Amino acid sequence: MIESSCHCGAVKLEIDTAPETVKDCNCSICRRYGVLWAYYSPNQIRISGGPTDIYMWNDREIEFHRCRHCGCVTHWAPVDKSLRRMGVNARLMAPQVLARARVRRLDGADTEKYLDE
Ligand SMILES: [Zn+2]
Repeated sequence: MIESSCHCGAVKLEIDTAPETVKDCNCSICRRYGVLWAYYSPNQIRISGGPTDIYMWNDREIEFHRCRHCGCVTHWAPVDKSLRRMGVNARLMAPQVLARARVRRLDGADTEKYLDE
C-alpha cells in the first residue's frame, strides 16, 4: 500500500498498489493541470480528509477534485459511480514511487494514441 497527499495534507489517499504506468496526457485539461494519472478501481483507493472542490466541463461526466486549501489536483472520479475506474494524480506520490513507474505519453488532444510507441 502507498500513501499520498496534497501539499497541505488536508486530502490523503491510500492506494493498494504503486502504479506500474502513469499517463501524461496533452488534452486541454491535463496539460494545464500538469498531472500524471494513475488508474485504479475505486475499491483500490481510500480518500480521506478534504474538503475538495470539483471542476467539470464539456459533457460533465468526470469530476476533477482539488484540495480546497492548497489547490493540488488529487484525483478524478466518474459522475456515474457504477463506473469502476478513476484516476489519481501520481504527482502527489513520493518521488521514489513515481520514479519506478513508466510514463506513457498520450495524445489525448487529438488521436487518443500513445506518442511513445
Ligand atoms: Zn491541500
